[in-house]
Amino acid sequence: MKVWVDADRCRGHGVCVGLCPEVFELTDDGYAEARTATVPAEFESSVTVAASACPEHAIDVSGAQRSEPSTQRLRRTTEPSASEAES
Ligand code: SF4
Repeated sequence: MKVWVDADRCRGHGVCVGLCPEVFELTDDGYAEARTATVPAEFESSVTVAASACPEHAIDVSGAQRSEPSTQRLRRTTEPSASEAES
């Protein structure tokens, strides 16, 4: 997974640093930057949460492990009504 902080969007709230200080830090200017472009696997979850939590949408991630859409269909939990059964 790769991560970037968009310097034009970042407003220095520090939410990302609070959620994942191993990957994000605030510079002397008060804005965030990623300590590394490649996120260690153990921090991918925290970085994903930080990206979602950033109020400025300033964090971009790519190559995130995404769960495959479920192919499991919802099962009917009740018997069909008489009108449904006829159709
Ligand atoms: S949460 Fe977003 S706006 Fe705040 S410091 Fe981090 S990247 Fe910047």
